[in-house]
Amino acid sequence: CGIVGYVGTQSALDVVTAGLKRLEYRGYDSAGVAVLADGGLATAKRAGKLVNLEKELAERPLPTGTTGIGHTRWATHGGPTDSNAHPHLDNAGRVAVVHNGIIENFAALRAELTERGHELTSETDTEVVAHLLAEEFSSCADLAEAMRLVCRRLEGAFTLVAVHADEPDVVVGARRSSPLVVGIGEGESFLASDVAAFIAHTRSAIELGQDQVVELRRDSVTVTGFDGSPAEVNPYHVDWDASA
Ligand code: GLU
Repeated sequence: CGIVGYVGTQSALDVVTAGLKRLEYRGYDSAGVAVLADGGLATAKRAGKLVNLEKELAERPLPTGTTGIGHTRWATHGGPTDSNAHPHLDNAGRVAVVHNGIIENFAALRAELTERGHELTSETDTEVVAHLLAEEFSSCADLAEAMRLVCRRLEGAFTLVAVHADEPDVVVGARRSSPLVVGIGEGESFLASDVAAFIAHTRSAIELGQDQVVELRRDSVTVTGFDGSPAEVNPYHVDWDASA
């Protein structure tokens, strides 16, 4: 339902959870975050309101990192449980993905992955994406390229945002039909399903186009089509009232 991604110099957890709060008005049934830190990936997720996630984070704090993603979920496939909450990971725990929308062909992809030895642990349509990204990344070592390859195999309407522990300064996003907006700061970059999530930090934004993938770093934003063709990037100024 709500998505936030961050790469910069601030605590990613702080930026992402504040962003998720700005998206609460959209409604949701669970929430979760992933942070890249100390060469690995740390996650926390809980069914219920953000306060449940905050309680979990207070009891089991995540290591501090400057790259992270977060999600508020409105369940479509699988009940609103802790394990169905996003982010979803691959079996090695190196990739984390959050997702809005529906992957229509997830059942076929799930069967294929299971046959190749993957163990899927949630009831969501989303989890297949984490496993597919891990497979593609293991041969191309480039998360944006892995995302392009995976998106070409997905059917449905979706926004996806992912991180990989082997590319700790990168957040990758993709969209087909559902919205995704990039925020360009100074030495920091944002991704969100709605500008409200990052407007406290920057008002320079880029609307990601249909069937596009974005690779976000501290100082750069690279956009391509799902086929890898370079796309033009035209930032605009968000001028609506942030207090609204
Ligand atoms: N289809 C996904 C799920 O049920 C994403 C739902 C959403 O858009 O929040 O987990």
